[in-house]
Amino acid sequence: MALHKPLLDSSELNRLPVDVPGLEDDFDRVEVRRSQRRKKTISAEIVGQALVVSIPHKLSRAEEQEWVARMATRISERRRRDRLNSDGDLVRRAAELADSYLDGVRPAQIAWVPTQKSRWGSCSVADGDIRLSLALADYPPWVRDYVIVHELAHLTVPDHSSRFWRLVNRYPLTERARGFLIAKGEEEG
Ligand SMILES: [Zn+2]
Repeated sequence: MALHKPLLDSSELNRLPVDVPGLEDDFDRVEVRRSQRRKKTISAEIVGQALVVSIPHKLSRAEEQEWVARMATRISERRRRDRLNSDGDLVRRAAELADSYLDGVRPAQIAWVPTQKSRWGSCSVADGDIRLSLALADYPPWVRDYVIVHELAHLTVPDHSSRFWRLVNRYPLTERARGFLIAKGEEEG
């Protein structure tokens, strides 16, 4: 297909302006496809060992580089999320923490989601679903555990009342973990 154009040779690949854990496991080269028909949409997929990024024909070289980096990060995060969710560790850990500190409460579902800008975790009280930001996977386990306890506690107490904090404070590292997350500068869910 005439639209296929290899963007980077292998030596350039090592200088991709992205720093994503596990990126090398997901693909070993990048291919950019410019399409006359595309006006705005940009997409990416893994084909074999290549990350294939499809962009509009008119994008500049600088924009192309920016989008390649952005899509590489996005795809790697999704694949990492899928790997982490498939091993069942999060479900098991949530059950252990709930049994230790929260009277055995269980979420309907608990899963990693790609890094969110504004939150570490969230809990949909109506359907019992808990989501954790992948950013937590790179922090110490006791910090991740605190966020799990926090979101699990919302299944019992939806708000941040003193009753809620009495529950969460059963987890002994709550204050320390909150300090850690405050230092990272994002909000709790
Ligand atoms: Zn909360």
